[in-house]
Amino acid sequence: ATAGAGLDQRTVELDRAFVFHSWSAQGALNPLVIAGGLGSRVWDNAGRSYLDFSSQLVNVNIGHQHPAVVKAIIDEVGTLATVAPSTANLARGEAAKRIVGRAPERFNKVFFTNGGADAIENAIRMARLHTGRDKVLSTYRSYHGNTGSAIVATGDWRRIPNEFARGHVHFFGPYLYRSEFWATSPEQECERALRHLERMIQSEGPTSIAAVLIESIPGTAGVLVPPPGYLAGVRALCDRYGILLILDEVMAGFGRTGRWFAFEGYDVVPDLITFAKGVNSGYVPTGGVIISDSIAHTFDTSVFPGGLTYSGHPLAMASIVAALDAMEDEGIVENAARIGRDVLAPGLAELQAKHPVIGEVRGEGVFWALELVADRETREPLNGAVMGRIKAELLGRGLLPFLADNRIHVVPPCVVTDDEVAEALAVYDEVLGLDLLN
Ligand code: PLP
Repeated sequence: ATAGAGLDQRTVELDRAFVFHSWSAQGALNPLVIAGGLGSRVWDNAGRSYLDFSSQLVNVNIGHQHPAVVKAIIDEVGTLATVAPSTANLARGEAAKRIVGRAPERFNKVFFTNGGADAIENAIRMARLHTGRDKVLSTYRSYHGNTGSAIVATGDWRRIPNEFARGHVHFFGPYLYRSEFWATSPEQECERALRHLERMIQSEGPTSIAAVLIESIPGTAGVLVPPPGYLAGVRALCDRYGILLILDEVMAGFGRTGRWFAFEGYDVVPDLITFAKGVNSGYVPTGGVIISDSIAHTFDTSVFPGGLTYSGHPLAMASIVAALDAMEDEGIVENAARIGRDVLAPGLAELQAKHPVIGEVRGEGVFWALELVADRETREPLNGAVMGRIKAELLGRGLLPFLADNRIHVVPPCVVTDDEVAEALAVYDEVLGLDLLN
């Protein structure tokens, strides 16, 4: 343990001296050391272990160090560690075939990227070239990534210091708990959110709009499960005005909701699907766009003006093949559905009944948010200082949480067990029972 503590200290010293971190002022950082992991747990060198109810950035769907995925990467390294995207590569074809096999019928091509943001970039590029239109409509409560168009498509605060790209317009999606539409029921929220979107489309000029881009279930923005009929309603509006629908499944896809794609639960088929994270649980950086036939055909004869050195990288492709096969063979998506339905839904509802600080619980599968409020009547969000304390208390009890604004996102790997959920629920229960507001 002493040697381990030394290693942890050196890890932090090197990090603080040389590593520049995302989304942060660099001065006051105190990053957690993570040296290893297995399944739903991670640990440092000194022997502290944490139940990972963040899945890191909601990407480790298959759990840490899945042996089949690790082996596939090692095997591929021995075969061909890198190759140009213009070549044909067996692992790439096998990966694309499996991804297409999970998609709706008229999707038969995959363009691979290095992650989620560049999947969005390229989906937007395809939509603009296919339609000959420019604007992209996306929601304020969204996150789509950190590259030029992706960060401007993003609705949340991260867009504002990065607003260079043009042609992006934002609207409000449904969020009944904090309704922008004075709605008091899911039906009302749905109807009014659709009416708002249609007015946005009409006001922006339908013939200038290439695509509506939305997360099937907005993730970082708060696991905003759409009301019944909303996504189908957006599809109908897109059809009415000749606009493409891009569904961003980067966070919600590949098992997180207990389905292969989140949108499968909502009676909707998009024109383009973006994915990353869960497709290989981030063991090697990758992502991509699944392309419907009519858009793919646009580029049969005209050049697609986009590409990346590491598009379809063999290590990423081998990890996708192994991850998707293991998820299928081991019933991992079914496990996420069962855990959501039978364990997390009742467990989190029980916490809400017990702790007034929980204003709302929403989610499905292993994709949940607890919205924390200082007052249930006014729904005033818990402030950052209290959330910081909650984070420290959870970590102190061995639970690695995912916190965003005034919410705890309950987002374990899809392989999480009943016992691990019980352990986490006990930790949430204890921490939310503390006298947090004083
Ligand atoms: N889209 C969604 C829905 C996301 O949640 C994220 C990342 O959190 C992205 C896109 C961007 O993905 P990446 O960080 O791999 O670029």
